[in-house]
Amino acid sequence: MKVIILGSGSYSGTPKPLCTCENCMRARLNPMYRRTRFSVYVEGILIDPSPDLHYHLERTNKRVKHVLITHAHFDHVFGVPDLQVFKEISFHSNELGIRTAQDLSRLAFGDLMPRGYKWEYETLEFWKEYKIGKAKVIHFPVKHSIEVAGGFLIEINGVRIGVTGDTGPEILNDEKVLDLLRGVDLLIPEMTKKESIPGVHLGVKDSIELAKKVNAEYTVFAHISHSNYSHEVLEKKVREAEIRGEVAKDFTIVEL
Ligand SMILES: [Zn+2]
Ligand SMILES: [Zn+2]
Ligand SMILES: [Zn+2]
Repeated sequence: MKVIILGSGSYSGTPKPLCTCENCMRARLNPMYRRTRFSVYVEGILIDPSPDLHYHLERTNKRVKHVLITHAHFDHVFGVPDLQVFKEISFHSNELGIRTAQDLSRLAFGDLMPRGYKWEYETLEFWKEYKIGKAKVIHFPVKHSIEVAGGFLIEINGVRIGVTGDTGPEILNDEKVLDLLRGVDLLIPEMTKKESIPGVHLGVKDSIELAKKVNAEYTVFAHISHSNYSHEVLEKKVREAEIRGEVAKDFTIVEL
């Protein structure tokens, strides 16, 4: 099965308009260094419909059946109206994520969806296991700069994938979350900043520390800000820490 990191960037993407930092300058010259907003696709499941969703769908040309939303920050959810190319979709998230997806759908299409559309919404309770299509999904809580945010453990045909979503470094001391994620086949942790911001984002060191604690078969670091180190420096840090994994680019594919 293929897991596609559709977008590897954080809320502003790289290049961030008007920013003159090295990463942004480089990304303007070479599209290889661009980072669109964070999103992941696996087997009909889309995790976080980002504002760059149209570009992601256009590039991958894949059908989305189920949508998981980690939290309601705009960079993780504002792609909802672009899902209108699919008539049948089910959305799954915490209460705030579902409410935001419904609000966006209402703003785009009014109270009535066009004829033949069947969009369904399911509010997830943390720690409960749900069957979504052929996947088993557990939504777990994390600390982030919004009332409610969470990550996902997704199991498809015995293959386990962990996605942290945006999270502060508190996740490193959350034994319940670590127990859930330990030994997954693929871990996709956020690695937004050079340094961690308590309650908000993981820095490089803490993201690598999380990967070590989880000890996944493979780790792909994502949600990388333009203000972080360059891609090559991040890759070097991951290599030196002897992590089996890589730093995501847009459209990085992992075969599981
Ligand atoms: Zn984000
Ligand atoms: Zn920049
Ligand atoms: Zn966020």
